[in-house]
Amino acid sequence: MALLRFEVSRSEVYRTLLKQIFNSSVVINIFLGKNSAAFVDSADQWTFDFDDLLSLPIDPVTVRIHDHHREHNPKLCSTSGELKCGVTQGELLLHILEERYYMGRAGRGYTEAHLRCLSPGSYQNQYRKELGLQS
Ligand SMILES: [Zn+2]
Repeated sequence: MALLRFEVSRSEVYRTLLKQIFNSSVVINIFLGKNSAAFVDSADQWTFDFDDLLSLPIDPVTVRIHDHHREHNPKLCSTSGELKCGVTQGELLLHILEERYYMGRAGRGYTEAHLRCLSPGSYQNQYRKELGLQS
């Protein structure tokens, strides 16, 4: 899988998460299939449609922030007028790996695993920081 190889080559967070998964006893099931999920994956059926990832960019998108929006959003005040944003192919793939890793550990359901991926300090948020994105 070229995307996984690419992300491992550019991201220390990817390498760390994969080492943690490989060094654990957790088995992650991912059933690949075109149109096997409404969008990208289904946590209920453990399916994954890789083609859906292709609708996302490889790298974050840089957008120009209008002064009006910067005045009303303190998080944007420190920016120079441009902001890196968006969700990348690598971020979504990492989210799925992290989420399924947590789901594979005893007693953790989808909702808890999903929210943990979105919480501060998660692999997903560390990865976003690596790419220069706000998390
Ligand atoms: Zn999720």
